[in-house]
Amino acid sequence: MEPLLAADLAALSGLLTSTKDHADRFLNGIGERRVAAAGAPPVRAEGAPARGVGLEGALARFAGRWEAGVSGSAGPRYLGFVTGGATPAALAGDWLTAAYDQNGSSGGGSWAAQLEEETLGWLRELFGLGEAHQGAFVSGATASNTVGLAIAREWLGERLGVRVSQQGVAALGPVEVLSGSPHSSVGKALSVLGIGRGSLRRVPVLPGREAVDAAALEESLAALGGRPAIVVANAGTVNTVDFDDLAAIAALRERHPFWLHVDAAFGGFAGLSPAHAHLVRGLDLADSVCVDLHKWLNVPYDSAVQFTRRRDLQTAVFHNASPYLGEPTAAHPDFLHLTPENSRRLRALAAWFALTAYGVAGHAEIVVRTAHCAELLGAGLDAHPAFRLLAPVRLNVVCFTLADDPSRVPEFLDAVAAAGETYLTATVLDGVSAVRAAFSNWRTTPEDAARVLAALTAAVR
Ligand SMILES: *Cc1c(COP(=O)(O)O)cnc(C)c1O
Repeated sequence: MEPLLAADLAALSGLLTSTKDHADRFLNGIGERRVAAAGAPPVRAEGAPARGVGLEGALARFAGRWEAGVSGSAGPRYLGFVTGGATPAALAGDWLTAAYDQNGSSGGGSWAAQLEEETLGWLRELFGLGEAHQGAFVSGATASNTVGLAIAREWLGERLGVRVSQQGVAALGPVEVLSGSPHSSVGKALSVLGIGRGSLRRVPVLPGREAVDAAALEESLAALGGRPAIVVANAGTVNTVDFDDLAAIAALRERHPFWLHVDAAFGGFAGLSPAHAHLVRGLDLADSVCVDLHKWLNVPYDSAVQFTRRRDLQTAVFHNASPYLGEPTAAHPDFLHLTPENSRRLRALAAWFALTAYGVAGHAEIVVRTAHCAELLGAGLDAHPAFRLLAPVRLNVVCFTLADDPSRVPEFLDAVAAAGETYLTATVLDGVSAVRAAFSNWRTTPEDAARVLAALTAAVR
């Protein structure tokens, strides 16, 4: 064995402790760390290291060159995009996932697949889905939307008497994908799937809202004259966290043939808060559902789930046919026959640890508390003359702009990031430059919301 490898193997216990100490220092300082990195990254070192320095050496080199560029995105006041952190149990589960290094593709001599099925069952219950929904772990909501829409594509084929997985998407002819305010990942998924971004039809939304107008959706469906379509319903839009009326949309299937995919990337967690649960009423009626876990479940990147009622169609799409991989059995196809990946990380373990450690009650508390923090920040901004809310705070995102001059939003956000107290990201809503503050980190408290408000009012002067 190469001497540095042999030395690290011999010193493994101490090295694990050093690595743990490194993580410990970082995590214990995260509440006061600069939220956005400042300064410039190091000059790139050319040439792969010919001779290594061992793990202790690598830790020191990382600390010296790159660690200053790690953001506080796992901390309590990073409100950009929709960013979760990692609870202690989720972190432990993720560390052990790497330590165990199981391949979650199929059995292969371990119980990894059964642990994933157990975890999926718990998550299904967490999101209020019935037993007809079966799922799999994937890397994020983009992958989850892609898998859901791939199953939808196969369903369209079933309705039209073709097998898309065999004959290709051209056999379908033109496809209509209808949605009110789809996430950008839906267009990306349609591009990947050969359906094409151009197949996405924007259906009118309700006045002043991002939620689809169900009557307009019915008109669009009626205009298809009985041709089957795909509807992407949105349960939590990224700008204003608006929710389509899922039950009303699902009821349209009595009169029109369509596959109902619901993007509930983070909105799926609304069901955990009694005050917000009505927003996801009808989620179980979907044919496929996307929920992210690295956002509001607070497990480390990358982790999401997809659920569907039609695992048979999913297997038709993702079946990895080879004698050495075995055949998918109808009841329990191996995960490699269900997802884009073949070899896959045992992502379920972090979620298993999180749910085992904190239960539904612990995760409900995170949702309720962070939604309350969004409400507090929204009220504070609403009361300040420099800011204007662009939507009511429906769940966990505050969408606002600068009252005097929205075109100054980029400078404002640069000033906020430079101060280092919080980090928010931009958007455009109905043509107006805007800011989003998204709360989904388990560490965030009302005190953090107050600190964010103070930082924003200081930056606007
Ligand atoms: C975040 C998000 C996505 C994309 O999720 P990734 O995990 O980044 O792939 C899709 N849809 C919605 C509504 C989201 O909030």
